[in-house]
Amino acid sequence: MAISKTDYVRGLQCPRMVWLDKNRPQEKVIPPEVQARLDAGNDFGDSLMGLFGEYVETTAFKEDGRLDYGKMIKTTQECLESGTPVICEAAFSYYGNYCAVDLLRKTEKGYELYEVKNSPSVKPVFLQDIAFQKYILKKCGVKVSKCFLILNDNEVKIQDVSGDLYPYEREAYTKIWEISKTKNSKDEIFVPVGEQCESPYRCWFYEYCHGEKKE
Ligand code: SF4
Repeated sequence: MAISKTDYVRGLQCPRMVWLDKNRPQEKVIPPEVQARLDAGNDFGDSLMGLFGEYVETTAFKEDGRLDYGKMIKTTQECLESGTPVICEAAFSYYGNYCAVDLLRKTEKGYELYEVKNSPSVKPVFLQDIAFQKYILKKCGVKVSKCFLILNDNEVKIQDVSGDLYPYEREAYTKIWEISKTKNSKDEIFVPVGEQCESPYRCWFYEYCHGEKKE
């Protein structure tokens, strides 16, 4: 795989982060409260798969427990060809750049893309995430008519963000390839610690990099 949407948003926060993800994963520290938040987000997403009625979920695993991306992409293609109304975890790959769309809903004008976030409001990082997905789908020949965030504001809130994506889509056209190159660099990528270490999220390599700085 070149990069995933997670690599993409992490690489936008800091190029070194995405290089460390691949090359020094043992140095990553995910605080328990962050893991709990991630798990709650996954549960929120799972609870919404039937939001628009009948659906097919593509999620598949290999014998070793890892996601079977090839099988998920194949199932997605079969669903597109058969006109499945809603595909959950609709998987696509373009030159190894991979994404799985939370909900992809067929309409008369194309497909609506829905990204689920366990958050009450829209954040720029969510739009970066959607822009990456939209780029991959476009390159895979899927017409995306609209993009939505499904948020958790004490109730499920669906927000149309189609009109907010343009600058993020422009960014994706070049940054996807830059971040892919960074992730796969044989040479270690160094970035001075700074504001990006805590924004928009505290980096899981925070102690590692700041420890290096003290030495
Ligand atoms: S701690 Fe800071 S410099 Fe190090 S990888 Fe994370 S964001 Fe980048």
